[in-house]
Amino acid sequence: MGQYCILIHYHELGLKKKNRTWFEKIFQKNINTHLKSLPFQNINTYASRVFVFGIDYEKWNDYKKILKNIMGLKNAILMYKIDADLIQIENVAKMLIQDKTFDSFRISARRQDKQFEYTSKEMDRLIGAKVQEACKKNVSLNQPDVNIMIEIVRGQAFIGTEKITGYGGLPNNTGETAISLLSSGIDSPVASFQILKRGVNLVYAHFHSAPATNKQSINNCKSIINRLSQFQPNTILYIYPLLEIQKLIMDKAPDKLWVIMFRRAMIKLSCMLAEELNAKALITGENIGQVSSQTLSNIHTISSMSNFPIIRPLAGHNKEEIINLAKMINTYEDSIAPHQDCCAFFTPIHPELKGHVKKIEYIESTLDADGLYKEIIDKREVYKT
Ligand code: ATP
Ligand code: MG
Repeated sequence: MGQYCILIHYHELGLKKKNRTWFEKIFQKNINTHLKSLPFQNINTYASRVFVFGIDYEKWNDYKKILKNIMGLKNAILMYKIDADLIQIENVAKMLIQDKTFDSFRISARRQDKQFEYTSKEMDRLIGAKVQEACKKNVSLNQPDVNIMIEIVRGQAFIGTEKITGYGGLPNNTGETAISLLSSGIDSPVASFQILKRGVNLVYAHFHSAPATNKQSINNCKSIINRLSQFQPNTILYIYPLLEIQKLIMDKAPDKLWVIMFRRAMIKLSCMLAEELNAKALITGENIGQVSSQTLSNIHTISSMSNFPIIRPLAGHNKEEIINLAKMINTYEDSIAPHQDCCAFFTPIHPELKGHVKKIEYIESTLDADGLYKEIIDKREVYKT
């Protein structure tokens, strides 16, 4: 008698030779956390694979939706586990396809356990012949309707036909922490996803201008955070009221510099948050040339406010590529929901395309805003998933 389980292959962990065990431990722990709403008995890692045992195979559709979003996962296969014995493997392969409608199939065997007497190629051939005899269907190596996957691992055989592909990358919590500036637009959630995929833990910061603008951007950000928490459970969003500092800037600085100076204020608050939380970088959805605040000169003017590296994963993307990614991670609909952007609301007709750091720093030195920044931090709200 066999049992159903899930066999997970991971992505780049294999490259990290020395830290491999550490990476595997975190990856396994993450899988445990993500799957907590579904039944399973235990999760083990061996032979560069993670196994989830004691599952309810009828809920495969629920497992696969969650597994897809676990960073570091290359693929996951619903497997039937038995002792490694050719006859038994043939029988299970036939059992797995008996209720399926299909015209072509293939066997994809892998032998991790070199003690097993048949090579992968021999298994493909021998089991393929038996399955063909039973189902009378054609073999198609390139585009089979059904792919029967077999893995021989430590004296056991795993056989399955259902596989999902993940996003790869590195597991959550294997990197350090960064602050992601989330605007409720299309770009910043995508930028966040790209960095989550590298194992970095993200804490989010959103800046709004309520009551001058409505609170829709805050609600949109919360929905986006709920979606992004599918990739990193237990997500935190800090929500800052920026209006008072914006008013001061609008009072003291020429209107063409407003947006750059608003951005610098966001960067300053984000750096303070990074210091508070021991984060090591800021993440933004900036994209070269997309808007006036994203010319190279203005990226420079904005960066010079930061004492942390600002990582801009979308710098070189085209808008269409970003939109496709936003649709893939399901943040697009929330991002296009109507909202009043805190900078767009006060955008002058002719914003500065080439801001000068020294000039802006001089204006800022006259603002006497330290107390105001402290007040903004006191008034920030925290949203947790
Ligand atoms: P997005 O689609 O993410 O809003 P955008 O193309 O509208 O990007 P900008 O509005 O210039 O670009 O913002 C550039 C980046 O600055 C954003 O991707 C985000 O990281 C950050 N940012 C802008 N506005 C805010 C905000 N209100 N709160 C937090 N971060 C912001
Ligand atoms: Mg924006």
